[in-house]
Amino acid sequence: MYLVKTPSLLKPLAKDLLWHVPTTQREVYFTFDDGPTPGVTEAALDILKRYKAQATFFCLGKNTEANATLFSRIALEGHAIGNHTYDHPDGWKTSQIAYLRNVLRARKTITSNLFRPPYGRITPAQVNALKNHFQLVMWDVLSADFDSNNSPQQCFENVINNVTHGSIVVFHDSLKASTNMLYALEHSLEYLSRDGYIFRALSDT
Ligand SMILES: [Zn+2]
Repeated sequence: MYLVKTPSLLKPLAKDLLWHVPTTQREVYFTFDDGPTPGVTEAALDILKRYKAQATFFCLGKNTEANATLFSRIALEGHAIGNHTYDHPDGWKTSQIAYLRNVLRARKTITSNLFRPPYGRITPAQVNALKNHFQLVMWDVLSADFDSNNSPQQCFENVINNVTHGSIVVFHDSLKASTNMLYALEHSLEYLSRDGYIFRALSDT
């Protein structure tokens, strides 16, 4: 169960989490979770480059270790990197100590102050432990590219129908999401650039 547009009622409950970037400019923040994935992340990077778009990649430590060259390409092309844990534990089902160890293990390769919890599931205790070390990043628009019941066109529409100034949009550079993601990414960049949007990376400071 997920909602494509995060209900605004939920947002004040988690003031330590970033749901969108406060701005009056027509800028949007595309993010990619779960990579780097050989064959998929390169394709996303190539599309972003064609549109001179910057984005943010929330990587898994196990994937950055296995794909070091691809991981370095992301930063070399001007994108921001974020920590998405070592191997994607569910914060609601993982002990505090095991969860924090998983985040720290990813920090060996991912030296970023941005963190996104897998599945967006994080407990208040985990928020308290991490918030002084990381900017905790959620989203306000899901492409829902990971859902194989969605067509690529549906994922594209999920993005363009919900983006507003400063939106943080979630895609996945994973094998499972790749067909939906690559279509929705390219078409969203085309549509939103015509609409005057620029595509920025989140600030890692
Ligand atoms: Zn994830």
